[in-house]
Amino acid sequence: MKYSMTSTINAMRLKRLHKILKQVNHYSDAFSKLTDEALQAKTAEFKKAIQDGATLTALLPEAYAVLREASRRILGMYPKDVQVLGAIVLHEGNIAEMQTGEGKTLTATMPLYLNALTGKGAYLITTNDYLARRDYEEMKPLFEWLGLTIALGFVDIPDYEYLPGEKKTIYSHDIIYTTNGRLGFDYLIDNLADGKEGKFLPSLNFGIIDEADSIILDSAQTPLVISGAPRVQSNLFQIVKAFVETLEASVHFQMKKTKKEIWLTDEGIEAANAYFGVDNIYDKRYFDLVRNINLALRAHHLFESNFDYFVYNGEVVLIDRITGRMLPGTKLQAGLHQAIEAKENVELSRDMSVMATITFQNLFRQFNAFSGMSATSKLGEKEFFDLYSKIVVQIPTDKPIARKDYEDRVFKNAEEKNRAILQRVQTLYETKRPVLLITRTAEVAEYFSMMLFEMDIPNNLLIAQNVAKEAQMISEAGQLGAVTVATSMAGRGTDIKLDNAVKALGGLAVSISEHMENSRVDRQLRGRSGRQGDPGSSQIYISLEDYLVERWGKGNMLNNKKLQQVDGEALQNSRLFQKRVQNTVARAQRVSEEQSVIQREMANEYEKSISIQRELIYQERDRVLDLWDTGDLDLTQLARDVFRRDYRKEVLDSEAELVNYIYKNVSFQFKEDMSDLSLNQEQAVVTFLVQLFEKALHRQKSALNNPYFYSRFVQKAILKAIDSHWIQQVDHLQQLKSSVQNRQNGQRNAIFEYHRVALESFEVMSTEIKGHIIRNLCQSVTTFDKEGKLVVHFPN
Ligand code: ADP
Ligand code: MG
Repeated sequence: MKYSMTSTINAMRLKRLHKILKQVNHYSDAFSKLTDEALQAKTAEFKKAIQDGATLTALLPEAYAVLREASRRILGMYPKDVQVLGAIVLHEGNIAEMQTGEGKTLTATMPLYLNALTGKGAYLITTNDYLARRDYEEMKPLFEWLGLTIALGFVDIPDYEYLPGEKKTIYSHDIIYTTNGRLGFDYLIDNLADGKEGKFLPSLNFGIIDEADSIILDSAQTPLVISGAPRVQSNLFQIVKAFVETLEASVHFQMKKTKKEIWLTDEGIEAANAYFGVDNIYDKRYFDLVRNINLALRAHHLFESNFDYFVYNGEVVLIDRITGRMLPGTKLQAGLHQAIEAKENVELSRDMSVMATITFQNLFRQFNAFSGMSATSKLGEKEFFDLYSKIVVQIPTDKPIARKDYEDRVFKNAEEKNRAILQRVQTLYETKRPVLLITRTAEVAEYFSMMLFEMDIPNNLLIAQNVAKEAQMISEAGQLGAVTVATSMAGRGTDIKLDNAVKALGGLAVSISEHMENSRVDRQLRGRSGRQGDPGSSQIYISLEDYLVERWGKGNMLNNKKLQQVDGEALQNSRLFQKRVQNTVARAQRVSEEQSVIQREMANEYEKSISIQRELIYQERDRVLDLWDTGDLDLTQLARDVFRRDYRKEVLDSEAELVNYIYKNVSFQFKEDMSDLSLNQEQAVVTFLVQLFEKALHRQKSALNNPYFYSRFVQKAILKAIDSHWIQQVDHLQQLKSSVQNRQNGQRNAIFEYHRVALESFEVMSTEIKGHIIRNLCQSVTTFDKEGKLVVHFPN
């Protein structure tokens, strides 16, 4: 019932798209007869029309028809009707679900072309450098033939150091192919520039995200982070660890494991007060202590060795939840990693402060418009809608899908299951039908590969190591007699073409050794076979020892125990037994999916404060960067505000204090006589200070002796003040997360508390920035380097 409802809605959406498609097709014949020159001239005509006020939507049918015809001539591929349908969805800023092999790369060229006509830039964003480069190279001749410029968004050399201005050149192209990570880091770096010449990123206009569910949903928990200086190592980790190990579950703390929530009860708080000899740990003074207790609680009870991390060579190495791969070099943020290290008694690594950070969700919000495509978007529709108000349109395949998705095969334990999988591969191998065996983890893939070699079955092993090599290997997985063993992410985005002989044998057989963390990934994997109407099959093997059941099926242990006691042989063939195991696995997968959704919601909730603040700060930076003639800025008024506030706050009513204040903030050469000044009169003191400020500023001005350098100086002084506080603020917010996370009533209140403190600290920061600007203006020393560039030495 529910399904037919959604398919009715989808049919309605498609009906509207078909009308536009008809308009595109309307041009086909005429355009096929145009000379190359006439077709190429269309680009300039469209640009002119846009200048004259034509909307992109009005131009869409003709522009798509031009691109189609150009693609036929240049690439030898004529975008199919279904691709045009997808391309319309992409222009409209929604998500197109198109099956694997349907040609999403070519589909994207239509909206990219259309949107690039404005000259404001169009981006194609994909998951890794290899795919970005591959698609860029393939589509480059098409765009260039049509008179647009195109670039790869990065220099594809490891640790490449960009020359000044090089990134700016890259980003000035009409069309850019890049990755979410590259773009995200560039966004953060761009907003650390201390002069207009250091900025390179244009405002983000239009973007298409390939593999959108993977980029937006699956990568959501790990925000991009630019690390700053190492943080002063807290000596609390060990002390707090000892304390936390004395606590008893349910008595001293409560937790909701699937929600990753844990908090101290009243007893727990009392125990903490007693243990650390304080009146109330929630007193502001103990911010750091509370934060460390939270970290330790989380480390001890919400992170499990061998599920979330391994201890390997004396180091805590994280495990990728989806692929089960180790993630060396990746660390949990803000002390959590160190708390786990303390728990495992390994040496604490250095905790780096966070200088700038953004989540992918918020990165894409920077675009005026963006859209997405993927083979498995539908299952994420609710989230796409909640996050960005985007709908998912399912585009029909060009040819009907001929792949058979068999029902799961059910086993009691891993051993029986693995044996059956190996048998199945052998049977297929004997007929020369190619088989792709997919596992969740690299270890299991290695195991199968080795077993197959022992059975004299040659095979290719792909365990997500070298993307380019994997792409090459997986593209050969459809050849006669090929046996390929791969982890779930290996070779994603690569097309598997079949030998003709293979089609007669039934196409590529995909065997999946267990259900993945979410059903989107399962579907993605099945889709490895059966591209463009090819024959093929897919089957998932399950057992009660699968990761999903172990991890998320714990609540059903009783049930499982009963199942475990069942004697294999007899029940292997019992429908009832099979149904039960299927249900257990399905339930575990559902818990896992819900859990990820909740985590993403939480991450988004926390992100709200920082993203509002980031926008404000970045806007302010841009305003300062744009300001060439600082005459617009009333620095005297700013100084007056600061002095007035400090007068009220800092008790400047003794001469000694006032002199000290002046040394610190205005002038370290201060020698004036103050005997006439009435220290108890705010107005008098403030006016006096303002005069000193103006003198100091005047000194700077005459030292620079050039209005251009003077305004650059003012600009740098302001930016420096903003940045040093903002960087501290980002790090503070990061730390604050772990400090609020165990106030008693669970996450809702924690988030409320987080936003409250975040706002408060933002206000404090804003005032502090003003004071810092005044100090920078008065107390910096300016010099010039060998090339005659201004260098400012700021006070501390
Ligand atoms: P997807 O990303 O949707 O899985 P790809 O973009 O990788 O698919 O395309 C799959 C294959 O189909 C590629 O080899 C591509 O060149 C080919 N292809 C795409 N569109 C067309 C078309 N209109 N005509 C012929 N071949 C096409
Ligand atoms: Mg693709």
